[in-house]
Order: sequence, then structure tokens, then C-alpha cells
Amino acid sequence: MTRVTDGNKSPGSTISNGNTTQALLDDLEARGYKLSVNERGNLSTEPDGPPMTPVIWHALQANYTKLVRLLKPPVADSNVVTETNVRKDNTDWSKVVNLTPERGEERERVVHEYRALCQAVDVVVKAAGPKDFIEGMMMHSVEMDKRGSGRDIEAERRIEAAKKGGACGGCGRALSDGETVYAKVRVYAGMWGSLTPRPGPRFEAVSVCKGCAPKYMSTPLSSSFETQIDAKGSTVRTYYDAGVAEMPCATCQRPVRHERTTRWQPRVYCCYRCEYTYHNRRRSERDEHLRQKVCEVCAEGFTATRAHAKTCSPACKQKAYRQRRK
Ligand SMILES: [Zn+2]
Ligand SMILES: [Zn+2]
Ligand SMILES: [Zn+2]
Repeated sequence: MTRVTDGNKSPGSTISNGNTTQALLDDLEARGYKLSVNERGNLSTEPDGPPMTPVIWHALQANYTKLVRLLKPPVADSNVVTETNVRKDNTDWSKVVNLTPERGEERERVVHEYRALCQAVDVVVKAAGPKDFIEGMMMHSVEMDKRGSGRDIEAERRIEAAKKGGACGGCGRALSDGETVYAKVRVYAGMWGSLTPRPGPRFEAVSVCKGCAPKYMSTPLSSSFETQIDAKGSTVRTYYDAGVAEMPCATCQRPVRHERTTRWQPRVYCCYRCEYTYHNRRRSERDEHLRQKVCEVCAEGFTATRAHAKTCSPACKQKAYRQRRK
């Protein structure tokens, strides 16, 4: 058994992130450190236990999440009947490539399970007695989030990952550098309409990989031309076909295939992060003159990172602070 020791007295006694979390826990308990996890998932030690040594402290930090997982008591909700809990499916949804429930029997079943869940949640909310309609709706959505199906949780995770960039919103796969993305493709985003008479699947348009894109988007493009993309005159090559065009992302240069619209699109973005990064950068370039300052302390000119900066450096800031205190 691996032992955690202070001061590296015995060779080979290391703390690793492998399967030694239980060993670490046993060892800590043997030394009198009683660990527990509170309701909010925070790890804590007995207040009147032995004092922390740096070694113990670092061992706790390195294994924090694993220890929390090990110690966390199972959450039992007595309010809801277990048979209406849809999350009981033991499918590993992270391994399923296409999460969209197929039209027909499968979709009917998914809708049915979702409705059953909504009704169970409704009972829970009514029992809790919200003070008005709005509070009732909010409680409903909180309860639905707690009990959502594994498929819907996975779908949401993929869409969030795709918005941050570098991941396919359809299959969740990490994209390699310079790999083409297919923008604004509809992917399954979970169910919606828990309070409506006819719930159904919800779709969101995100960037996906070639395998998840429709065929017409991934066929080779025959024509191309140079496009001017900014006032400096820099150009990029745009490839296009009847309905589809390809241009590099305005922020990260990843090739982006997108549907052509009647409106001219001067730039495209591979993901939401690249989109706001582009606009943030442009705004910061445009407003650069507002950040040209003269330091109040040393009277040097400087370019600040914030519009209200008054001093050029931490040293000058400290000086100004001392002068103010006098
Ligand atoms: Zn994909
Ligand atoms: Zn990008
Ligand atoms: Zn200064």
C-alpha cells in the first residue's frame, strides 16, 4: 500500500493520482484527519484534528475531486417516485454519435418518458407549494434540470463545447487544428415544452465535423475567388458552389463551410467564442485612443488596458495610494 509520509523520509512513497485515493484516505484517517463532504460538495476536515502539514495539504489539493467523489453520500430524493426518474437509463451517451431520437417509435418513447417526467415534477412542485406562478415555473425548471435524461444532458454538453470551439456539436469529438467545420448545422439539443400539451425535440444550429454535416455541405467546392476582408486590404480565398461556401474563421483561420444566403457575409466564425473574440478585439482597437494616458505620478505617457487607469504601473499605483493616505 502506498503511504503518504512527511518529509520524504522513506524513498518510493509518493502521492499519485492513480487508484490510491482510498489508500490516501485510509492513511489520513490513521493520522487522525477526519474528512467529510458537506451539502455543497466542499471537502472539510475536523476543526480540532491535527494541524495541516504542507505535504498533507498538497495531497488533499491534488486529490480533491476524487476524495469528494469517494466521500459524497448518495443523494436520495424522497419526493419523486423512482420509476418516473428517466435518468435510470444506463446507456453511455457520450459514446453515442448521433443523439437525435429517430422519428417513429424511438421518438415516441422519448417524448413519452419526457412527459412522464414533467408530470412527476409537476407533482413535486405542487407539493412544495410555490407562492406564485413565476416561482412555480422556476421550481419546475430546477427540478427538470435535476432529473433530465442522460441523453439530453450529453446533448447540452456537446453544444456548449461546440460554442467554445474545437469540438463537434454533433458527435462531441475534438477537432484537430485546421480541420474544416460545418457551421450552423441543426443538432439535437434535448427536449422542450415541458409545460405545453405536445412536447418534442429541440434543435440548435452549431458547428459540426464533416461526419456530422449533411452530404450537400461536404461535397468538394468547384469555384473560388479572393475576398477583401478588412480596410487594410487583406484578402482570403473563398471557395463556393451553388449553395455552400467556405472561408477561414475571422479569428482562428479554421476553414468554415456555411450555407450561402442572399445576403453577403463578409466574415464567418467557427464558433461562438471566435465570434465574440473578433468583436472584442475590434472594439479594443477602435477605442485605443481612449486608453492613451499620462501617469498621474511619474507623468509618463502610456497605453492602459482599462479606460479609467490613472497610473502606468503597480509601483506608481502604490505611490499614488500612499500619497492619498497622507
Ligand atoms: Zn461530429
Ligand atoms: Zn475560429
Ligand atoms: Zn507612472
